[in-house]
Amino acid sequence: MKKFYVTTPIYYPNDIPHIGHFYTTLAADILARWHKLKGEDVFFLTGTDEHGKKIETAAQKKGEEPKEFVDGLIPKFIEAWKKLNIDYSRFIRTTEAAHIDTVRFMYDKSYKKGDIYKGFYEGLYCTGCEAYYQEKELETGCCPVHKTKVEILKEESYFFKLSAYRDRLLEHYEKNKSFVRPESRYNEILFRIKEGLLDFSISRNSFKWGIELPFDKEHIAYVWFDALTNYLSGVNYLTNKEQKYWPADLHLVGKDILWFHAVIWPAMLMSAEIPLPGQIFAHGWWTFNKEKISKSRGKVINVDELIAIAGVDAARYFLFAETTFGQDGDFSTEGLLRRRDADLANELGNLVSRALTMCEKYCAGKVPVYKEENCALGAGEIKEAAISAVARCCQCMEEIDFSGALNGIWSFIKLLNQYVEKTAPWKLAKNNEKEKLDTVIHVMLEGIRLTAVLLGPFIPETSEKILGQLGLEAQEKISFENKAKWGQLQAGTPIKKGKILFPKDLTTKNG
Ligand SMILES: [Zn+2]
Repeated sequence: MKKFYVTTPIYYPNDIPHIGHFYTTLAADILARWHKLKGEDVFFLTGTDEHGKKIETAAQKKGEEPKEFVDGLIPKFIEAWKKLNIDYSRFIRTTEAAHIDTVRFMYDKSYKKGDIYKGFYEGLYCTGCEAYYQEKELETGCCPVHKTKVEILKEESYFFKLSAYRDRLLEHYEKNKSFVRPESRYNEILFRIKEGLLDFSISRNSFKWGIELPFDKEHIAYVWFDALTNYLSGVNYLTNKEQKYWPADLHLVGKDILWFHAVIWPAMLMSAEIPLPGQIFAHGWWTFNKEKISKSRGKVINVDELIAIAGVDAARYFLFAETTFGQDGDFSTEGLLRRRDADLANELGNLVSRALTMCEKYCAGKVPVYKEENCALGAGEIKEAAISAVARCCQCMEEIDFSGALNGIWSFIKLLNQYVEKTAPWKLAKNNEKEKLDTVIHVMLEGIRLTAVLLGPFIPETSEKILGQLGLEAQEKISFENKAKWGQLQAGTPIKKGKILFPKDLTTKNG
């Protein structure tokens, strides 16, 4: 059985889960669901990054122990993912014992190999990022991410010999052209590796909240070394000898943290002699009404606000139809409602509603018989289009092109709507052309069935509703090949017309 292991970055728990978190996590969920649909053995990891100075300081302010403090923050994330219908395999926390052991194992391996040495570090440090900056990276003396003043920090520190991995990284990049995607990001990282790599500090002793190094208890692990290791501990790399999920197939990340994933993480793995992940995909950022999303200006879209606009599925659809994955996008309530109305309500919802109404009215609520000889009405064209919609969807999902997949599905939906107009079943009914009428309605229902199958990973709740209305429940045991094949609907199956999908009047006054 083919396996698919996908990860999101682990999130800093002191934040409210906002678009920056849920965009990546939803992308991972869609891919995980897609690969499950294909019959693969899927592992989908997400979680929280709970160590570091920021947490220590925030806990102190509340008069709590750091662990007690983070324990109180986790339910917010678990709850948010549940609301968004995100079906992960494991939620890892970096405070778990198994993770801590794995981090110490990684340090130990590199230390014994001679890749870790002691030195002295002085640099410009942003507490928000938990990272040092070089002078040239700052924007008028401030952190480019947080726009706050950086501080000069000097501490005794252990260093990781990143410089020693330049050639091996270059070789890996040359051999694996899709190691980092999109291609522009691959080129950017490759260029920076060629420029040369500097050793960097991987321990702290200016605060306590972290993982003690196995070879020096005075030092704690650098948060990025700690956090990145979650991808191993998340699949029990240390204790599970028959490791079936590692190496990860895909790390999904925001473009701001690509360097850590595309350079530092592979070098850490090389040092510990662990195979590298298959691919790292960096997605873009969202603006909000064309303005940069920032907490300080109150422009953060949280999960409840998102769902309140038009429900979970409309939100899931909008985020992945609106913009090409990998590029930046602009979020607006109007944009979401426009897509909900045009694509989901008018194209998909209408099609389903019409087909089921006609099935009830003309076919006694049962899937009618399809007769090949009545294909003259264009059913052959629909069948061809269905086959190519499935092929296009498979191709796009392999390439992590969500909007491409959705565009393909919607072309098919539009074609089905045109087919209804062209064949005019109400006229066939009037003229008593029963066999032709049956075939047309069968084709509509079969087209809807296939659409619902392909949409499952994107809008799972809607997909399930549609399949239920077609009298198709418990589809888990049917292979993807069979589900995605044209002509699976059995004549005689009773349909169950349900509530209208994506009703517009709930959220808009005059839509
Ligand atoms: Zn910062």
